[in-house]
Amino acid sequence: MKLVDSHCHLDDEQFDADREETIARARAAGVEMMMAIGTGGGPPDLEAAVRLAERYRFIHATVGVHPHDAAKATEETFARLAELARHPKVQAIGEIGLDYHYDFSPRDVQRAVFERQLALAAEAGKPVVIHTREAWEDTLEVLRAQWRGGGIMHCFTGTEQHAREALDLGFHLAFGGVLTFPKAEETRQAARITPADRLLVETDCPYLAPVPKRGKRNEPAFLVETVRRLAEVRGVTPETIAEQTYVNFQQLCLRVWAGNGKLDNFQ
Ligand SMILES: [Zn+2]
Ligand SMILES: [Zn+2]
Repeated sequence: MKLVDSHCHLDDEQFDADREETIARARAAGVEMMMAIGTGGGPPDLEAAVRLAERYRFIHATVGVHPHDAAKATEETFARLAELARHPKVQAIGEIGLDYHYDFSPRDVQRAVFERQLALAAEAGKPVVIHTREAWEDTLEVLRAQWRGGGIMHCFTGTEQHAREALDLGFHLAFGGVLTFPKAEETRQAARITPADRLLVETDCPYLAPVPKRGKRNEPAFLVETVRRLAEVRGVTPETIAEQTYVNFQQLCLRVWAGNGKLDNFQ
């Protein structure tokens, strides 16, 4: 199996002691590509993922300000993000969005920073990686008003209705460890109705390890557990899921790199 982990926080300090080994285990498990999420500890450092992507051919990067860190963003942050968006290994802007569960940054600030980054992504012609928690309606409202490009609803844990709304907006849905949790039947139903060409998988490591690793530190190698469960849910083989999600990732995130000229999707 040839897999892509479309969302991992490999810069996290939980990997400081064994990052090299973690990446080697991922590759040995068939995780051939990884998209490192660059939000890190928040501004002023915006290059958490770029540093990894520059070291490893098979690691791609995002840049962006997480809603938790929205209050740390300044004019300098946006200027630097616009520059980094042109980096050849930066494939998307993210994770950006709204998080009303923790409210680490005031909601109006989260929204302004989210909107500003959507404008930046449109300008750069890059897809976005969306983080939304307890903020579904506001997230969709912002996207409907402002976004015509593609992107990823990361760690999708919504209902079938939420899935349909995101799909209608042109988004891919990325399923992670939650899909394997016993109580996550709604998420599995969303995974059943997602068209094959809009499906992605992710770990969001070091968080949300799938069953049977639940509760442990998550890592890209554990993606195979989620892929197995997703295959069961959709009634296909794990190899089919691997192939579909690999191609989808390439088409969505590596289109500039692949030179297939799909940029007319953007505003
Ligand atoms: Zn997230
Ligand atoms: Zn994340």
